[in-house]
Amino acid sequence: MRKLMENKGSTLLNHYPLIGSAGPTGVFDRFMKKIPEAVYIQTINRCNARCVICPYKDTYLFAPTEIMPLDLYQKILRELTPEYGGYIGLYLHCEPLMDKRLPELIALAKGMCPQSHVSISTNASLLNEENSEKIGHSALDSITFNINGGTKETYERMMPPLKWDTTIGNIKNFLKHYKGLKEINYIKTNANAHESEYLKEIFPDVTVIDQYWAVNRGGSVAIDKPVDAKNRFKSSLKKCKQLSTNVSITSDGSILLCCNCWQKEVILGNAHNSNIIDAWNDKRIKHHDHPVCVMCR
Ligand code: SF4
Ligand code: SF4
Repeated sequence: MRKLMENKGSTLLNHYPLIGSAGPTGVFDRFMKKIPEAVYIQTINRCNARCVICPYKDTYLFAPTEIMPLDLYQKILRELTPEYGGYIGLYLHCEPLMDKRLPELIALAKGMCPQSHVSISTNASLLNEENSEKIGHSALDSITFNINGGTKETYERMMPPLKWDTTIGNIKNFLKHYKGLKEINYIKTNANAHESEYLKEIFPDVTVIDQYWAVNRGGSVAIDKPVDAKNRFKSSLKKCKQLSTNVSITSDGSILLCCNCWQKEVILGNAHNSNIIDAWNDKRIKHHDHPVCVMCR
């Protein structure tokens, strides 16, 4: 894994399916059902940023704060079973450190699904000394830092109201505590495309993933980017694998068609009353004809 991470073009998620019992494709049949390569769980629907590339400021910001009940979180982990060898991302449309239970949630995920790879993706602005100690010494397998600017000016324009000095200082300090896998996710638009090299100089020991351009999140946010820009999810509808690999569950238990359903446009079921694997296997609804897919760029 560490070797893989040294590849400049690699990402934790791109390579993760090679690990664990999920096998080479990350998908195997358990009682004739497909198992997702990755499960994203929104334990809280809150973020402290208003990034220009993100629909949060127009969608969740005006929704009431919602924290996933612990019994629902444990139900999801139980349904994945102790044999689950895929990726569990404790983040979805949110900043995971807004959930004060995060160290406990990491411990539960690793305890109930010990073969899984548990990860968070964070803007790092809340990774203060206390959080650094707790998260840095937890069972977390990997962490992704989201930084969309290589200078104070661009960063603070791209990710308001976060402060460059706080974020950079927090990450430098966190790395003293944390010995697991880490990467920086640098999402490009026409406004910041030229600055990722600066981050590579600031963090020479962290892989900076900078080949992807921002996604319009199924049409939920306007993105200023070249027409032929390559995004993380797809280059064409035919090549989009999201529906056959990932499951995304929001804090109210909604099982989304895709993580790009920021407005819950297509819901496969609710984890409160449905088995997540059964709902996710529902072929009747998993297709690319939904408006959210047609709009997705
Ligand atoms: S930090 Fe992430 S979830 Fe929060 S506004 Fe920015 S992109 Fe959206
Ligand atoms: S919204 Fe549809 S097309 Fe876009 S990444 Fe998700 S599943 Fe694929």
